[in-house]
Amino acid sequence: MAEGKVEDKLCFRTSAGLRNALLKKEISAKELVDESYKRIDEVDDKLKAFISLTRESAYKTAEEVDQRIKINAELPPLAGIPIAIKDNMCMQGCKTTAGSKILENFLSPYNATVVKRLEENLIPIIGKANLDEFAMGSSTENSAFNVTGNPWNPKTVPGGSSGGSAVAVSAGETVISLGSDTGGSIRLPASFCGVVGMKPTYGRISRFGLIAFASSLDQIGPMARNVEDTALLLQAVSGHDPMDSTSIDRPVPDYTATLKEDIKGLRIGVIAEMLGEGINPEVKDAVNASIKMYEELGAKIEEVSIPHTKYAIATYYVVAMAEASSNLARFDGVKFGYRAPDTDSLMEMYTKTRAEGFGDEVKRRIMLGTYALSSGYYDAYYKKAQQVRTLIKKDFDRAFEQVDLLLSPVCPTTAFDIGSKTDDPLSMYLMDICTLMVNLAGLPGISVPCGYDSKGLPIGLQLIGPVLSEELMLRAAYNFEQATDFHKKHPQI
Ligand code: GLN
Repeated sequence: MAEGKVEDKLCFRTSAGLRNALLKKEISAKELVDESYKRIDEVDDKLKAFISLTRESAYKTAEEVDQRIKINAELPPLAGIPIAIKDNMCMQGCKTTAGSKILENFLSPYNATVVKRLEENLIPIIGKANLDEFAMGSSTENSAFNVTGNPWNPKTVPGGSSGGSAVAVSAGETVISLGSDTGGSIRLPASFCGVVGMKPTYGRISRFGLIAFASSLDQIGPMARNVEDTALLLQAVSGHDPMDSTSIDRPVPDYTATLKEDIKGLRIGVIAEMLGEGINPEVKDAVNASIKMYEELGAKIEEVSIPHTKYAIATYYVVAMAEASSNLARFDGVKFGYRAPDTDSLMEMYTKTRAEGFGDEVKRRIMLGTYALSSGYYDAYYKKAQQVRTLIKKDFDRAFEQVDLLLSPVCPTTAFDIGSKTDDPLSMYLMDICTLMVNLAGLPGISVPCGYDSKGLPIGLQLIGPVLSEELMLRAAYNFEQATDFHKKHPQI
């Protein structure tokens, strides 16, 4: 699609400029929230990035920001900057559906820790973004409510499962957003929609109040139109949380402090297995050009092998489905959300509720996951998958003895047509080949725009780092972004 001359449009500005405008009183936080809703009115009928809007909360936060500006009080870095959050994060008193009919009318009784952090940082939450049901999918087509369109071509998918969060940012409906990533669900939609998306180290951001899909893989992370905003949002929501026993108790560095330093001498390993067969030639070309760009920026490039890549999909889908089948057992019509009407027995109520409340993909995963965990099959499937998971982790440990960061495509293709893979789950699962090992190993990964295909659809570059290397990864991404123009292009909707 054509490049829009929209750089000046308020909806595509990033937080640095907007903060300046707020502090200079050229615009108020209330007006920024107004702008966000105006843009949603303009484009969301077509794109359907949102499941629900949270106007009351957004305006309340904006009002507090404006009050503080009036008296020249301290303002956190992202105060007043409109955000969208994926609708699998609990927000008190608001609908939290996880994209599922089973939670259609569920009102969360409490706030997720990330929501609490956004409130403390005075970041107005504009609404809850669409997703694949329980974050299971790569296209956002598995939502029980809407099919979200990609702003670069609404006939194609935005990627998933955080499709709504990526679209909100890409289309200028909000400035930043939060997604969650279990096997690629932040990085893949970021890549398909031409924005930046980061999956932090497992445990960096609290999962308290995130509706669980696969607890040992799930991680919340930031999405934005540039690396700096990604860093600022990561900063705002990271940190230890006693409510999440897997959260890391280590101080959060200042992610923007070293962002602008150069990367001379940085050792980057190109993952050989991810630039071979099955990767679309246009994606390959864009990634190869990015490698050249990193060389120009002073990085040292080497080829690196992650030999167990061939087992990645099988391993991930056994682990993820096993955990999902266990996590989703709680949705039985008793405590949460939907309950099937007119049933005669408790067993009938359970079965009808689950049969009517869950979509096909979720049912498929519950069945396969239950099978993998069942007595007699546990050792053959679940235990084996856990063992291979350890081997994959060791592949990465070995790679990081050799290099500082790893580089690969985010996805073998660019955005595909809506409906083109819905009857073929396996081809959908293959979209995750470059991303899901990062979750199996608990590592941080980022997607940054690195090109466009011949149809004008965005291509994403993935950087992967060792545990808690977010600072370095952001710096490498920032240097690349500043040396290229990909992030300056916006979709014309
Ligand atoms: N596409 C992968 C899946 O369907 C990853 C999803 C995610 O990261 N939430 O499981």
